[in-house]
Formats: sequence, structure tokens, C-alpha cells
Amino acid sequence: MRLILLGPPGAGKGTQAKTLSVKLAVPHISTGDMLRQAVADGTKLGLEAKSFMDRGALVPDEVVIGIIEERLHKPDCARGYILDGFPRTLPQAEALSRALTTLGASMDKVLSVEVPEDDLVKRLTGRRVCRGCGYMYHVDTNPPKQVGSCDKCHGVLYQRDDDKEETIRHRLRVYREQTHPLIAYYDKMRLLRHIDGRGTIEEIARRVHQALGQG
Ligand code: AMP
Repeated sequence: MRLILLGPPGAGKGTQAKTLSVKLAVPHISTGDMLRQAVADGTKLGLEAKSFMDRGALVPDEVVIGIIEERLHKPDCARGYILDGFPRTLPQAEALSRALTTLGASMDKVLSVEVPEDDLVKRLTGRRVCRGCGYMYHVDTNPPKQVGSCDKCHGVLYQRDDDKEETIRHRLRVYREQTHPLIAYYDKMRLLRHIDGRGTIEEIARRVHQALGQG
């Protein structure tokens, strides 16, 4: 199954994508994770992407399109994948449609995870991520048993640089202006399903499964 999880930062796309990836046995492809890895590794791509990411701006289309095209050609994508955080602009969506045509494939569904903006700010400012396994916590709603340490792998928890309030407001503006138009794009292609992204992780997962016809 080929899926896109669309939604603003903090909507819970990554969390849902991780669970779904295990359930459907297809890779979870997050351009944000790939770019953060490149920054951590200090590669040329990482150096180029870092200044955009730190200020909550989008990395240029040609850069992310290049990364995704390369990734989708890997053998583990043959049975499908879950895209999280890509596409984020109309040119990216159009490039993805072209890449799928070249591969003789098509998108199955696009899930738009929707959460009111005030809730997103609360979620993102309280978000903490494990350096070891990438698991996400929230200081109020999903705290770790021990402050600053991952329950799963005892890795150190940190706050992403772009999860500071001012940067968050900017990322949400970028989402409204550049990514939100993709909802209409995929609706026109009859691929779109709306998901209420409020509530617990389990409640949202149930809605996702219903939207995928898995019940
Ligand atoms: P995310 O983890 O999806 O919130 O992405 C973190 C940051 O990586 C974003 O704020 C952008 O700077 C960059 N990024 C991730 N995916 C994309 C994309 N598809 N297009 C442009 N920039 C991206």
C-alpha cells in the first residue's frame, strides 16, 4: 500500500506512520527524519538543509525531490510505503505523481490529519524526542517515567530546535501557505480522506484504520 500522511507539524503524522509501517509491513519514509540524519552526519546535504530547518523554512523543492526519488527506487519500496512530511508543496506533489508514473505505480490514499492550530502549538512546545530511537514524548500528555530519559531505550530526550514557539508559529504559517493547498489537489484526485487528529494516539489510530478500510 502506498500512502501519504498529510497534515501540519504536530498533527501526529510521525507517530501514526510508525505504527502503520509495522502493521502494513512497508517502510515509513519521513523527509524530516532523513534530513535530520543528514544534518547529524554532517553531509553536504545536511549542511545545505540545516539553515532552512533551523528557521522553520522548507528545504528547496529540488533537494527534497531528489532525496525522495532516490529513496522510492530502493527495493524495500516495491510493496509500498508511508510518506510522512512529503510532499509539502505543489511542485513536490507533481514531481511525486511523475515519479510514480515512471515506476508504473499509483498512490492508494492520502490521509489528511487535522488538528486545531492552538492544540498544535501546545503539542509541539511540549514535544521531546529520544536521541536513541526517535520515540516522541510530551511533557504533559505522554511524559517519560523518568524526566529526560527514554522508557524504551534509556536514550537522552531532547527538544528539536524547530520546536521552539517562534519557529513553530512560522512552520504553521508555511504549512497554511504551501502545504494546505495539497488537500484540494488530492481531493480532486479522489485520494483524500480526512482524519480528526484530536484525542489519544489510540483513538487517532482507530480512525486511520477505518479510513484505510481496515476497520
Ligand atoms: P518534519 O520533521 O516533517 O516536521 O520536518 C522538519 C523540517 O525538515 C521542516 O520544517 C523542513 O525544514 C524540512 N523538511 C522536511 N520535509 C520537507 C519537505 N518535504 N520539503 C521541504 N522541507 C522539508
